[in-house]
Amino acid sequence: MSKKFLLLIFGCLFCFFSITGCKRISTKNETKKELILASFTVLADIIQNIANNDDFEVKSITKPGIEVHGYKPTPSDLINASEAFVFIDNGFGFEIWSEKFVSNLKIQRKTIADDLQPIFITEDSYKGKPNPHAWISPKRGILYVDIIVKSLSELRPSQKGLFEKNGETYKQKLSKIDQDFSLFINNLEKDKRYLVSCEGAFSYLANDYGLNEVYLWPVNAESQITPKRMARTISLVKKKNVPAVFCESTVSNESQMVVVNETGTKFGGNLYVDSLSSDNGPANSYLEMLKHNLEIIKRGLE
Ligand SMILES: [Zn+2]
Repeated sequence: MSKKFLLLIFGCLFCFFSITGCKRISTKNETKKELILASFTVLADIIQNIANNDDFEVKSITKPGIEVHGYKPTPSDLINASEAFVFIDNGFGFEIWSEKFVSNLKIQRKTIADDLQPIFITEDSYKGKPNPHAWISPKRGILYVDIIVKSLSELRPSQKGLFEKNGETYKQKLSKIDQDFSLFINNLEKDKRYLVSCEGAFSYLANDYGLNEVYLWPVNAESQITPKRMARTISLVKKKNVPAVFCESTVSNESQMVVVNETGTKFGGNLYVDSLSSDNGPANSYLEMLKHNLEIIKRGLE
């Protein structure tokens, strides 16, 4: 092999690496991640699983553990929102604040509830209004995935393949949890199928899997327990011999402990609905949240 030829090879390799090296630096500067903003942590996590590549970043306005219904957006929330290309919220009146929040922003908005069939609240001042907590049922969670895949594909058609592929993988995981819920409840004696919670946030779960839902107040935004409802809950827990009652992670257990003390039933634990837990908590993703809820309900009612 001649010296000239070797020099030529080294020269070419040098060129190649300097070009690819430069290219890498320049793409790094060019590709700024596009921001997708969600109203709450559960929704942000579902979106993160669908828009899961280097082109997108997903943030939630409300942080883990925060009460979402009556949240008050901060100035930094508005700054975050102005950098996003889309704001995705749940709707059905869940985020009381989101209408006003987006009204001053030049931003696309997608509301999941626009494509969902609601279950209506039947009592108190919320009578006739849709119950917002549809994601609490894994069956509806699968619908959330379809809605988000479709919306993001319309907004960013070049990434349609990615959204669809990720959506399918994610839906398989949800289907497994859906089957676990069905199996558990089908094996539970009929007279034990009572889910007693603080907020009436489990209507979709109760409806989809055949549970009777009992709660202390219909929606967090108005967590006023009337003496009538308290008396009714206590009487039902006694009459049906309900083995455990539950509350939610974003509210105080205090009122449910009154039911526990009055009836002698046990407190089954906190369920997660409106917000995920922090990273080291038991519900740090939507899938973990559903699994945790199933586990807590199982432990309480079996
Ligand atoms: Zn709620």
